[in-house]
Amino acid sequence: MNEKELRTPGTNFIKTIIDTHNRTGRFDGRVHTRFPPEPNGHLHIGHAKSICLNFGIAEDYHGLCNLRFDDTNPVKEEQEYIDGIIRDVRWLGFDWGDRLYYASDYFETMYRFAVDLIRRGNAFVCDLTAEEVREHRGTLTQPGRESPFRNRSVDENLDLFHRMRAGEFPDGSRTLRAKIDMSAGNLNLRDPVMYRITRATHPRTGDSWCIYPMYDWAHGLEDSIERITHSICTLEFEDHRPLYDWFLDALETYKPQQIEFARLNVTYTVMSKRRLLTLVNEGFVSGWDDPRMPTISGLRRRGYSPESIRIFCDRIGVAKANSTVDYAMLEHCVREHLNLTAARVMVVLDPIKVILTNYPEHQTEMMDADNNPEDASMGKRQIPFSRELLIERSDFMEEPPKKWFRLAPGMEVRLKHGYYITCTDVVRDTAGTITEIHCHYDPESRGGWTRDGRKVRGTLHWVSAAHAIRAEIRLYDHLFALDDPMAVPEGKTFRDFITPQSLTVISNALAEPCLADSAPETRFQFLRHGYFCTDPDSSPGHPVFNRTVGLKDSWAKIQRGADEQ
Ligand code: ATP
Ligand code: MG
Repeated sequence: MNEKELRTPGTNFIKTIIDTHNRTGRFDGRVHTRFPPEPNGHLHIGHAKSICLNFGIAEDYHGLCNLRFDDTNPVKEEQEYIDGIIRDVRWLGFDWGDRLYYASDYFETMYRFAVDLIRRGNAFVCDLTAEEVREHRGTLTQPGRESPFRNRSVDENLDLFHRMRAGEFPDGSRTLRAKIDMSAGNLNLRDPVMYRITRATHPRTGDSWCIYPMYDWAHGLEDSIERITHSICTLEFEDHRPLYDWFLDALETYKPQQIEFARLNVTYTVMSKRRLLTLVNEGFVSGWDDPRMPTISGLRRRGYSPESIRIFCDRIGVAKANSTVDYAMLEHCVREHLNLTAARVMVVLDPIKVILTNYPEHQTEMMDADNNPEDASMGKRQIPFSRELLIERSDFMEEPPKKWFRLAPGMEVRLKHGYYITCTDVVRDTAGTITEIHCHYDPESRGGWTRDGRKVRGTLHWVSAAHAIRAEIRLYDHLFALDDPMAVPEGKTFRDFITPQSLTVISNALAEPCLADSAPETRFQFLRHGYFCTDPDSSPGHPVFNRTVGLKDSWAKIQRGADEQ
């Protein structure tokens, strides 16, 4: 099974709209979308949904998708974020060809469009302060009041706007506003601000501008300039669509169709860049790419494959109503993909020594092991086996309960890829703690099979004491103890619901020697422990692994339960 088969492509309401446009010829059969991040933070899994949707639709219709930075607010935007976003979108597997654009490249064009709007009598320079503009705005039940500067002449507006740009006025002292309708039911249409004066150095245009366009004014123009056909955005912009249309209609210029869909929310995590930045700044995580973060770089470091994220985005679908997706479903998708692609290896997290008393001293055998039973093309490797082994402490019990299938005095188990062994004895230290388990091995059971066909219920993972390498293992829990960290009770903040210990470090795990120099981002299944990924903190001979996800699939369980009902 490959990624295509794991995905469940189907139709959705956006495709229905596009199909209608293609039938009526509204865009001459063209489909051209864009992903328009603001570089004020790194991308998160919610953005992945938008990326998969925009690039996916372009692909499905043999159209195009642009990557465009909506860099109109220099106060919060940084080059580091621009670089990170480019890296993340590429890693997710999408290609924008030569269509990487920046809203800031259109500043001059936008300025000329604004002059045009003034000439048409549809915009004016307003001297009210931000506070006064708010006061004049009215409420949902009360109409707003017109600005006393609303009826300035075209010439006066042109002159003042020119001087705003030239830097003659202090920050915040004037704005350019659209002249629409102060009594409109939709507050967005009550003479919205188009430009503000802000002396801020822009990552790309430096200090060449001291006026910057507002989102609603800029965004439609960006789409129009790029001849976008379908401008897909999240639901909170539904009320902005009349303004989007108004600007482009007033300018009598090319107008795309804005379409809104529900944003992705996932349980146990926060999704806004502002909140994620708080987690970084207040030291709750080690950075934007901390494996506990729902960012693309965090998921990547955690061990998620790009395929697994694309499968997830495909499965959740697109809807018109907001909802929250269970984190377990994201985990289910990564498990499903890694099951097909990750090599199986053996790592002992909490070791206890096993001595095979009838095994020749100083002998080492190399045992054959399939790298992935699901995929023979992943080949085999050899694992050293010797007299002294290490197994998981929890795989042995001196006085086991009934139905214990692992190791106990007198019991026989299979060592994966090894031999059958039977426990004969234990050795204790002076405090009474077991330090060694003595076993007999059956020389006839090489590879984990017996000649007489006798069966055992338990199969244990192990490493050879003389050959094992030390590994650091990082286990993670949800960062938040609350399934909706945004729905916090009065008087509390999301900080009050941070899990006290969401990171557990095991510094003395013992691993098969083949893991010594595994490259960062290599993904494995550690038998019986889950899926893991090599962390960039690894150094030669000292690998560090992050647990991506355990093996127990709580989502599959939820699904089975739902099916049975
Ligand atoms: P945030 O609120 O997390 O800061 P944003 O919407 O301000 O995100 P932008 O950089 O403006 O971030 O978003 C780029 C695109 O990604 C937009 O089209 C936006 O609608 C979309 N997007 C952002 N968050 C989500 C989400 N949770 N689900 C789906 N799409 C999203
Ligand atoms: Mg935004």
